[in-house]
Amino acid sequence: MAIELTFTEAQQRFRAEARDWLRAHVPREPLATLEGEAGFAQHREWERTLAQGNWGMVTWPREYGGRGAGLIEWLIFEEEYYRARAPLRVNQNGIFLLGPTLMQFGSAAQKARYLPRMAAGEEIWAQAWSEPQAGSDLAALRATAVRDGDSYVLRGHKIWSSRAAFADWCFGIFRTDPAAERHHGLTFLLVPLRHPGVRVRGIRQIHGEPGFAEIFFEEARVPLENRLGEEGEGWHIAMTTAGFERGLLLRSPARFQVAAQRLLELWRRERQQADAALAAKVAQAWMDAEAYALATYRTASRLAAGGSIGMEASLNKIFWSELDLELHRCAMSLLGARAELLPQAAAAQDSGWLEGFLFSLAGPIYAGTNEIQRNLIAERLLGLPKG
Ligand SMILES: Cc1cc2nc3c(=O)[nH]c(=O)nc-3n(C[C@H](O)[C@H](O)[C@H](O)COP(=O)(O)OP(=O)(O)OC[C@H]3O[C@@H](n4cnc5c(N)ncnc54)[C@H](O)[C@@H]3O)c2cc1C
Repeated sequence: MAIELTFTEAQQRFRAEARDWLRAHVPREPLATLEGEAGFAQHREWERTLAQGNWGMVTWPREYGGRGAGLIEWLIFEEEYYRARAPLRVNQNGIFLLGPTLMQFGSAAQKARYLPRMAAGEEIWAQAWSEPQAGSDLAALRATAVRDGDSYVLRGHKIWSSRAAFADWCFGIFRTDPAAERHHGLTFLLVPLRHPGVRVRGIRQIHGEPGFAEIFFEEARVPLENRLGEEGEGWHIAMTTAGFERGLLLRSPARFQVAAQRLLELWRRERQQADAALAAKVAQAWMDAEAYALATYRTASRLAAGGSIGMEASLNKIFWSELDLELHRCAMSLLGARAELLPQAAAAQDSGWLEGFLFSLAGPIYAGTNEIQRNLIAERLLGLPKG
């Protein structure tokens, strides 16, 4: 399929509008980390500002707070967003994961109830899938939802739920039929986090902030209307969400292109510290970021023409997570011992690299580990026998 590498006039106008709006609205001072309470509130406020400008999620229909734009426009918006150094999206799990899932599986009433508040930053979402004994093997999950009249009663323990310490809602998968084959007895539910029988306990990380939380369901009741799709359809729906997570939406190329550009600037300043091998790695990382952008435009064009992403999501996930690691490893090597200085240290330079490096280490783990993605590619794309 031929790729159109130029933007239409309408797309260029869209870019200019996004750029002007971001220039006028992106906070001049970086916000506090969204993993702490104060920073979370600041990021929530930023989501509201975005929504007021109608930039919450440009691809959504207008009635849900979007602009009815296409995927190419979304990629353009993301490029402008990262170039403007705009804040991280505290509602990424809602906007990029649950939102498109709701569009596909939600009833009209559910879409009207949840999407506008999500786009407006009024309700921040967390993903409640993993359990202490069910991470890679997600279908081993044990949290249950037992039907009782017009409610489900939830019991169980979820863990590693990003943003859940301060979020308002979670989307979880629960076992509704313990007798069914393990992928079949699962149901996808939307659960308020500040709710009787739901207890959230933040997990303090090395920097002291609770970026994750555990969620305990202790006979929490949610009405049947909080179910997404049919009972027992949870696995299928969750895998659609995972496709959005690994595929196009969670990590757009602009994030890496901007990091690659910063790496080049760092290289120009620090090149006397580097040998030829590091020079080659910097060049490769920069080219990989550009290649990822081109590949994403190709995927977006295919999707816009009615195609689907399928197993490519796993290839994609491995590529962006390894690219992120490599970009940060190069920067850490260029900075040498200075890379380890905390931002408050007098001699700290480019301190964002350390924070970014630590987060990049998690890339091969979240959204399904890279080992598991490799298994999926081997079995389902290449048709190799199960290991
Ligand atoms: C930054 C971050 C954010 C996260 N956010 C969320 C969130 O919001 N919501 C949520 O529900 N979860 C979240 N998680 C949890 C994440 O989904 C799990 O950590 C991940 O699925 C791995 O599960 P586990 O930690 O139980 O490791 P395990 O499944 O115990 O795996 C341990 C190791 O064994 C390997 N392994 C396991 N099985 C196989 C196999 N069959 N073949 C080859 N290797 C294998 C794995 O690849 C891994 O290296 C997050 C994790 C991180 C790091």
